[in-house]
Amino acid sequence: MKLGSESSPLRTEDTVPGRNTELVIITYVFAGLFLLLAGYLIWFQIFRRPAVKKNVYNTREEVTTDRVIRGAILSRDGTRIAYTDVDYTGNEVRVYPYANIFSHTVGYATNGRSGLEASLNSILMNSHSSLLDQIQNAYDNKKVQGDNVIVTLDPKLQQAAYYALGDRRGAVVVMEPDSGKILAMVSKPDFDPNTIAWDWEQLTGNENSTNLLNRATQGLYPPGSTFKILTTLAYMRQNPENFESFLYNCQGSLYRDEVNITCYDGHVHGEQTLDTAFANSCNTAYATIGLSLDKAAFRKMTEKFFFNRQLPGDIPHQSSVFALDRNSSEAECMTTAIGQGDTLVTPLHMAMITSAIANGGIMMKPMLVSSVETYEGAMVEERKPSIAGQLMTVDEAQALNGMMEKVVKEGTAQALSWNSYSVAGKTGSAEYDTGEYRGTHSWFVGYSNVEDPDIALAVIAEDGGTGSETAVPIAQQIFDAYYYS
Ligand SMILES: [Zn+2]
Repeated sequence: MKLGSESSPLRTEDTVPGRNTELVIITYVFAGLFLLLAGYLIWFQIFRRPAVKKNVYNTREEVTTDRVIRGAILSRDGTRIAYTDVDYTGNEVRVYPYANIFSHTVGYATNGRSGLEASLNSILMNSHSSLLDQIQNAYDNKKVQGDNVIVTLDPKLQQAAYYALGDRRGAVVVMEPDSGKILAMVSKPDFDPNTIAWDWEQLTGNENSTNLLNRATQGLYPPGSTFKILTTLAYMRQNPENFESFLYNCQGSLYRDEVNITCYDGHVHGEQTLDTAFANSCNTAYATIGLSLDKAAFRKMTEKFFFNRQLPGDIPHQSSVFALDRNSSEAECMTTAIGQGDTLVTPLHMAMITSAIANGGIMMKPMLVSSVETYEGAMVEERKPSIAGQLMTVDEAQALNGMMEKVVKEGTAQALSWNSYSVAGKTGSAEYDTGEYRGTHSWFVGYSNVEDPDIALAVIAEDGGTGSETAVPIAQQIFDAYYYS
């Protein structure tokens, strides 16, 4: 019996390891399930989330405002351009330390969204902060901090462009020709994104108010004589053997097809080569060139330069217009050649064309976003410059560059020739007629440090008169800021 009674606990002991085995199995199963779940979360976090977020049927974006504090937009030097401040009651306020200075480009995030605040919305409202951080925040019932976006904008140049344009209506775009990075983009009149909710009525109530319009990307302007860059290229391509021997005797005006083309302010330029006609912006010489061009080939060339279609890159914009076709009249050929007629461009587009010349014929896609980082500074995504296309041969770019240097050395932009840095460019005085009002927009497009260009820009000042009068001094202030401050 004793043995038996002793064997009983033995049997009992026998069953104990059995129970342990069950516990061990259960533990392993739970651990396995937990690992699977964790694995799935990590996998989802890394691979699936971008796809889910992009799904248009997903309403999660609206839900994320309850979960994520909108990330900040930082300039290329790390300065905060837009960020969300949370006060002690948990109230969130979007803050724009530069107020009006970046208004259209950075945009606003209340009363709808615009600019970068709109295009970067899903990035700013997403968080790649560490899983531990996210779990901790969920545990504390706190929101996670959204990712920060580092943009290509340079506060020094943005401020220089903003103050140089002053109270004028118009726009400035400054780019790095070899990367397509936009360093400054200003549009006037403007608004303060800090007070947009209060100012909304005033900004949108009046149909004449265009303060919310980003003229740099949405403003369609006659290019005036800045378009002579493309007319010259078309002429060079259509007369490869003899464009250098072009000669024209300017009498100050040219009457044809019931249109009178005149040179600015009654100037009579006399004998002009292609170089001098370009440097002096001789309208009658260029109207004559316009009459000689093959219209279909001219149109095809401008469309290669992204007229009548979307620009490369992902910056929302209006498409520029080139209206000349094989049925156009002689009057249209003349006016189109001098950048009048029905041709319309955005300042962004002109900055890209100018950059392509500065970059040996290669146009880069314009870019505003450099990288995305977590709020702790860990890299999430880096964006690299990319080529939109080789639009000109190196020789063609060099030929245009030579002519644009002459504009500064002895032509309409001589005011830029007294600096320690070199500039090549083209002025424009774009006449417009609304029926009620006639005026002249002042243009300058160009780039500095001609041998190895640093920055390219396009400046338009509405009703600024000639290019040399208004746009050239604005450009000078921006170049000065780049080199001297
Ligand atoms: Zn002339």
